[in-house]
Amino acid sequence: MQLMAPVRPVPQDDDFVDALRRARSTIDLLAQLRIAPTPSRFTLVFLHQCGEMADLSKAVNRLLGHDKLTAVALDELYDEFFGRFLEETELRTASQRIGRTMADVSDCLDEASDTAERYGSVLADFSGSADQLADVIDPSNLRVVAELSEAIGTVLSETRKMAEINDLLEERLQLSAREIELLREHLDLLEREAGLDALTGIANRKSFDIMLRETIAMASREEQPVALLMIDIDHFKVFNDTHGHQLGDNVLKLVARYMKECIKGRDTVARYGGEEFAVILPHTGLDAAVQAANLVRRHVSMKRVVNRRTGASLGQITLSIGVAEYRPGEPASELVHRADEALYFAKSTGRDKVAGENEIQA
Ligand code: GH3
Ligand code: MG
Ligand code: MG
Repeated sequence: MQLMAPVRPVPQDDDFVDALRRARSTIDLLAQLRIAPTPSRFTLVFLHQCGEMADLSKAVNRLLGHDKLTAVALDELYDEFFGRFLEETELRTASQRIGRTMADVSDCLDEASDTAERYGSVLADFSGSADQLADVIDPSNLRVVAELSEAIGTVLSETRKMAEINDLLEERLQLSAREIELLREHLDLLEREAGLDALTGIANRKSFDIMLRETIAMASREEQPVALLMIDIDHFKVFNDTHGHQLGDNVLKLVARYMKECIKGRDTVARYGGEEFAVILPHTGLDAAVQAANLVRRHVSMKRVVNRRTGASLGQITLSIGVAEYRPGEPASELVHRADEALYFAKSTGRDKVAGENEIQA
C-alpha cells in the first residue's frame, strides 16, 4: 500500500521563488533582531522587503540605521501605516451590511407585491371566463354554475385575506427599513462623536493619533514639514485645589476655545489628556511653529478668568508649550516624545513659556 503520494517537482516560476526568498529574509531579519514574528510584524517587514511602499521602507531603514528596530517600534509602525485603514474597513463592512439588509428588505417588498398583483390578475381573468361561461351555459346546468360561483367566492375571500396579510407585511417591512435607516444615522453620529472630547468639544486623543499619522504620511509624500505643539496648563492643580474641579473644567473649556481662536484652517487642536493639549501644524517648520505657539501662549495669558456666578476674578491662566518638527522616517511617537521633552524644558525654565526642541540641546 502506498502511504504517500510521490513527490512531483513543483513548477517554480520567478514570482514563487522571489516571494519565498523575501519571506525567508523577513523571518531571518526578525530572528536576527530577536523579534517574535507576529502576523502584523511579519507583514510589515515582508512589505518592506518587497520595496513597494517607499514610506514604509524609509521608516524601517531609518529605524534599522539607528539600531531602533524593536518589537514596539514595529507595532507602532504597523498602527501608523495600517491602523486607520483597519478601522475604516470595519466601519465600511458594518455600513455595507446595513446597506445589504436594506436592499434585501426592499427586494422582499417588491417580490411580495408582484406576487399579489399577479395573483389578482390571474383571478380577474378567471372570474371573466366564468362570467362568459355563465352566459353560454345551458340553464339546466345552473347547479354547476352555482357551485362554480361559490368556488369563485371562496377564492376571492382568500385573496382578500392574502392582500390584508400582504399589507401588514409591507407595513412591517417599511418599519424595519426606517429602523435600519435610523441605526445608520446613529452610527454616523457615533463615529463623529467618537472623535471629539466630551468636555471641550475639540478632537480627542484618538482622533489626534489618527490625524498625526495621516498628516505625517501626507507630509512625507509631499516632502513638506510638520510641526507639533505639546501644551500644558501651568499650576493647574493649584487652580483646582483653590477654586474646585468644576471651575477647573470650565477653564479647560475656555482654554480650548481660546486656542481654537488662534489655530485655524488645516491645523488640528486636540485635548491630549487631562490639562494637556496638542496642536498639529502641517506645512510648518520649527521656527514658524514656535511663533504660532507664542501667539497661543500670549492670547491665553492675556485673558482674565472670571467666576460668572460671583463676578470675582480668578486670575490669569498660563501655558507652557514644547515644539518639535517631524524628522522624515521616524515613528510619530518620536515626534511626540521630542515635543514633550521641549515642554518639560519650558516648565523647568520658568513656565508661561515656549521652548523649541533645538533649545534643549543648546
Ligand atoms: P505644572 O505647571 O507643572 O503643569 O503643574 P500642574 O499643577 O498643572 O500639573 P500636575 O500634573 O501636578 O497637575 C495636573 C492637574 O490637572 C491635576 C488635576 O487636578 C488637573 N486636571 C487634569 N484633568 C482635569 C480635568 O479634566 N478637569 C479638571 N478640573 N482638572 C483636571
Ligand atoms: Mg500635565
Ligand atoms: Mg499642568
